[in-house]
Amino acid sequence: MSVDTDRDGRDLEAELANPAAGKFGIPVDAVCVGCGRTRVKRASLEEMDQHPRADPTALKASDCTSFKHVCYGCQSATWWNPVTVLIGLLESERDRGE
Ligand SMILES: [Zn+2]
Repeated sequence: MSVDTDRDGRDLEAELANPAAGKFGIPVDAVCVGCGRTRVKRASLEEMDQHPRADPTALKASDCTSFKHVCYGCQSATWWNPVTVLIGLLESERDRGE
């Protein structure tokens, strides 16, 4: 899934593996409203105002609301706006049975 794993020199897979991304939820690329940095985060469907049984692979980032998550740049919990739902990362996790 090279679409998702290498963007602007970022290693999205490594960002997702970082504890800062969070443990639960679907992987999204999101922008912190506080400092403007873009990071891979996990957010649950409910946090993004989506139906809990919605198919994550059919989600559009533009339909997702911002969600609260800690930002290590702001050193506090801030709001994050989803930019992209990282379907590739989601599917590769599923393929591994996670
Ligand atoms: Zn921030």
